[in-house]
Amino acid sequence: MSVTIINGTQIAEDIKAEVALEVSKLQSQSIQPGLAVVLTGDDAASSAYVDMKARTCIKLGITSRKVILPASSTTQDLLEQVRRLNEDESIDGILVQLPLPSQINKHQVLEHIDPRKDVDGFHSSILGSLLLGHEALVACTPMGVMEMLRRSGVEMSGANAVVLGRSDDVGKPQAVLLMHANATVTICHSKTKNLADITSKADIVVAAMGRAAMLTRNYIKPGAVVMDVGTNKVSDRATVERLFGNDEARWRDFNKRGYIWVGDVDERSVMEVASKMTVVPGGVGPMTIAILMKNTIKAARMRRGLSC
Ligand code: NAP
Repeated sequence: MSVTIINGTQIAEDIKAEVALEVSKLQSQSIQPGLAVVLTGDDAASSAYVDMKARTCIKLGITSRKVILPASSTTQDLLEQVRRLNEDESIDGILVQLPLPSQINKHQVLEHIDPRKDVDGFHSSILGSLLLGHEALVACTPMGVMEMLRRSGVEMSGANAVVLGRSDDVGKPQAVLLMHANATVTICHSKTKNLADITSKADIVVAAMGRAAMLTRNYIKPGAVVMDVGTNKVSDRATVERLFGNDEARWRDFNKRGYIWVGDVDERSVMEVASKMTVVPGGVGPMTIAILMKNTIKAARMRRGLSC
């Protein structure tokens, strides 16, 4: 069977172009959407993510505000900052960049964001709305997977879908979204027994475990669609060799950085049986920022009572 690789980079670009169009429509109604990102501390990776989000905002015509707080900030400092952004009429979306320094109560901070502005979709009331099928700002990564499935013509209604992982940010919202798309959903986790028996009956598998290349072809039904959310750093030569042989692009990355990013799916093995699948990098990853932009526009519309 020949597999189709679902191109996350291309779909993300398509979504960003749609968002740019939406922004100009809002601007013609004198609405200027704005996203604020709160960065606490000077972690290089977090700082790079925040810069990437700001650059994407500017490219699409969204106002970007970066709020930088020192690593020594307290929970109270963050709550105060979030309160100001909640009340700021020029801000439609608020994102608190994670991880936060250990002294900060992450849960308290995230719950303090106005759910109408919570473009990461982590607020408990958003998960409640999602469960009830109400319009809400849904977490970017699972929403990204849904967009990829839809835009790749994958039939979800009546499909058996298995979600691997039950985190609040990915696995749980993913399972609910698939259920609302009329799939019959099974959620698996680290205590699930006979995992391969379950996954090998699935028409759609979404892997979000954080276990490098764990899913081999033995886990996958021939013809299934496999979506790989996993992002695992592999810095050991023997593993790169085992997973990718002499794949030039992988070795170029490895030799340059000393590591590569690998999904939860053993790509070379699963390609032999899947009908459609994503790969890492260039799969689900690029979708997250595109959906963040889409959520910012959605927040701008919802807050003003405009249809989404
Ligand atoms: P998480 O909070 O660590 O959750 C992992 C989930 O996988 C847990 O529910 C865990 O089960 C389950 N699990 C772990 N080992 C398993 C196994 N051997 N068999 C079955 N289930 C297993 O991680 P997360 O935040 O959901 O993220 C998952 C992965 O997605 C990570 O690699 C992360 O980096 C990646 N990610 C990517 C993006 C993106 O933009 N592409 C965004 C978010 C996350 P228990 O509940 O029993 O512990």
